[in-house]
Amino acid sequence: MPDGRDPITELINQLTRLPGIGERTAARLAFHVLDGPPDLAEALASALRAVRERVVRCGTCGHLTEEDPCRFCSSPRRDRSRICVVESTPDLLAVEQTGEYDGLYHVLHGLIRPLEGRTPRDLNLAGLMVRLQAGGIEEVILATNPSVEGEATALYVASLLRGTGVSVSRIASGLPMGGELEYADRATLGRALSARRRLEGDP
Ligand SMILES: [Zn+2]
Repeated sequence: MPDGRDPITELINQLTRLPGIGERTAARLAFHVLDGPPDLAEALASALRAVRERVVRCGTCGHLTEEDPCRFCSSPRRDRSRICVVESTPDLLAVEQTGEYDGLYHVLHGLIRPLEGRTPRDLNLAGLMVRLQAGGIEEVILATNPSVEGEATALYVASLLRGTGVSVSRIASGLPMGGELEYADRATLGRALSARRRLEGDP
């Protein structure tokens, strides 16, 4: 903790670094930790430590997991000819919850966001190319958000895969433009997956 800063201010400052948490929400959370159940602060602190210590990125697909390879990559029951490319682990879980998909995944850990200086090099793309070169993949499904950045990233990945002989498809619209996969209801996301359209590759 920086010298001289009082611990409540410090907690509020740290909480505002989380997405979607403004100063007022951070203050409310901080005071709840102080005034709430006595074990809350300790339980919260140990849960935060545990995720940092025990959760790793799957060396194959990038999923955040306690085991490497993750349960998808190591499962004999998954369709190993398909890879669904998503922005983040919450998006992977949203696709999984539709029950419409039984292939493998690849987590990019971000989207191309030129205004924020995030380029393709910042994404987990090299790992995807290694998996494709290993062979056996017939289809790559691009399931990034239907936002400007999500579309741009999907088109970029599709262009990388051009000429590899792998069929490339994009989840269908039906998700609201600018919406987020993570928050789409299961049925809508399930429909978007099953009505995916082909971008590249042989029919
Ligand atoms: Zn994996």
